[in-house]
Amino acid sequence: MKKILILTASFGDGHNAAARNLRDAIELISEDAKVEVLDLFESTYGTLNSLMKQAYQGLVRYAPTVWSGVFSVFDNPTLFRSQTSSLGKLRDSLAVLLHDTEPDVVVSCYPVYSHIIRDIFRDHAEQPFRFITVVTDSISVCSAWYRAPSDLFIVANAPTSEVLTEAGVPKHQVKALGFPVSPVFAREQPLPLAAPERGQRRKVLYVINTGKAKAGKSIDRLLKLPDLDLTITVGRDATLKAKLSERLREHGDRVRVYGWTNQMPRLLMSHHLVIAKAGGAMVQEAIAARCPIIINQVIPGQEEGNAQLVRKLGVGAVAEKGKEVRDLVEEVFAHRSRKWQDWRDNLEKVSQPDAAIRIAELVLEEAGRVNHRPAPTKLFEINPSQRSVTASGQAGGSRMLLCDFHIHTNYSDGRLTLPEVIDFYGRRGFDCICITDHIADPRRLVGKFSELLNFTIAPSQLDEYFDMLEQERRRAWRKYEMIVMTGLEFNKEGLTRKTSGHLLGIGLTAPISPALGLVEIVAQIHGQGGLAVAAHPHVMKSAWGKNTLFLWENQEVFAPILDAWEIANRNNIFTPVGLKRFAFLANSDFHKPKHIYSWKTLLHCEKDVEAIKDCIRRNEHVSLTLYRDGLSGEALRTVPRSPETAIPELMTLKSVWPTARTGCKTHGWEWDRGLMGL
Ligand code: ZN
Ligand code: ZN
Repeated sequence: MKKILILTASFGDGHNAAARNLRDAIELISEDAKVEVLDLFESTYGTLNSLMKQAYQGLVRYAPTVWSGVFSVFDNPTLFRSQTSSLGKLRDSLAVLLHDTEPDVVVSCYPVYSHIIRDIFRDHAEQPFRFITVVTDSISVCSAWYRAPSDLFIVANAPTSEVLTEAGVPKHQVKALGFPVSPVFAREQPLPLAAPERGQRRKVLYVINTGKAKAGKSIDRLLKLPDLDLTITVGRDATLKAKLSERLREHGDRVRVYGWTNQMPRLLMSHHLVIAKAGGAMVQEAIAARCPIIINQVIPGQEEGNAQLVRKLGVGAVAEKGKEVRDLVEEVFAHRSRKWQDWRDNLEKVSQPDAAIRIAELVLEEAGRVNHRPAPTKLFEINPSQRSVTASGQAGGSRMLLCDFHIHTNYSDGRLTLPEVIDFYGRRGFDCICITDHIADPRRLVGKFSELLNFTIAPSQLDEYFDMLEQERRRAWRKYEMIVMTGLEFNKEGLTRKTSGHLLGIGLTAPISPALGLVEIVAQIHGQGGLAVAAHPHVMKSAWGKNTLFLWENQEVFAPILDAWEIANRNNIFTPVGLKRFAFLANSDFHKPKHIYSWKTLLHCEKDVEAIKDCIRRNEHVSLTLYRDGLSGEALRTVPRSPETAIPELMTLKSVWPTARTGCKTHGWEWDRGLMGL
């Protein structure tokens, strides 16, 4: 087993993208590697970090020149040293992490880590892992990237590798393998688009990140051009999405507005031109997709190199002021798209869509050079000490599956992305989860409104949702042995609580129209072999959301056809559901990380999709439990034979999770035991 730790930070946008794409590529080509992506700023500084990020975003938006000054701190060795010395807490966390997890290779996608690692291993004869830096800047490379040592530096292109070697980095340590864009670029290579002839549609993609205040006007100007279709992505800004959809409604099919999307590779490969800011990941993805780019915003300092790169490679243009974008677009397609064809020819020469795979191969090769140590590690095993207790027979007992069948991602109104949710549950040792993003009837007023505000999945993103879930299902099983099912939460919103109902479809294989009646939806769910479950069917005590009693009020219709009813939803317990002796489930209705501390289902059955569905339908050996961290994984699933054998387990847990609060854990454990009737 090769262990690879990838370090990143969420300042600017290129670092996280590079880290995640490299992880995906390693997992794609190797069955024998455990990869972790970590943002130590996030885990070490928590809220302080998010404040720093906000400050960063604020600076970028309102005062780019101020940010330029901040950026130069990183470029100035003396100033930078004073900065890193204040990073003591982060250094300590990294030292403990490296000691405990013993990775074979550490990859850094953010310049600060190399300095900290040098600091940690200052007094050591030898660094016990290979250290690789993936430089995410181009051409105007901040010197912090290479002032501290690294076994290898991976850069995006030849001009960048010249910058490093001219600064004194030995040639053999610099590899120009390309920027690690998503491996999807290498897997899916559709036929390249031909230059649009006179009268043919020009497909333009407009990516909005920051500086969005002016986006509306700039889009209006673009739409004055003939034969132009526009696809707009607005990221996570739901208000902007709603505003733009409203404003652009008159243009009909010419304009599509997307929220946050996982499909950027496909969008880039199917458009003639992209208009975006000079983010490191964005520029590199456009190059990988062979999609010419017009840059409409450059953050001084860090992004100048990306803009220079576009000019130097001749793959697009940089608009000096917002106003020029329209003129540039017109020029690109003028004279039978002559300029467009030039850019496209240059892209063919420099595009490296398989860069992530090639970097992954190099990382794995480096991991093979490290002598293997047999000891298991804490980070990469969910709970190794607990496992040994079970194996020795001390704890014994039966195994239960820890499950959560009601989870939202940012495909609807959840806070985390789908991959983030998978990692969140996978790390906590869950056995089976189902993703159930909201879907509503778009024809109904309430449904339409909530879709605009990103509360529900847009119908145009349903196929993407099913595709992504299939991909993540495989990854979750490979990485965590966790079963992931695809689901939907059908929202029927009426004007009162008695006419509103939410229905979960669990274990779906294809989209189902939300415009159907609930009875017909249940039939379709059953047709796919899935489960139809009533979500929060009774009165909820908490203040969030309104109550949805439609299914409960019409139980003579729905009790015979539903497979189960939620008896608990997050912190609510619905006693009447139990009194009716309905088949039950307990779920988080997860929208954000703190919702993990809530009611969950434990199933006593085989870890297999069909066995799990069957167990829920029969509702035998189903329990509910109140989830608390530290009692996850093996500890929760292994029912202790007696309190005496359980106590050493708690001691073990304390040593595995030194930061967890013991009082809570003891309390939580007693709850579980009580509820399981032991
Ligand atoms: Zn709901
Ligand atoms: Zn829900």
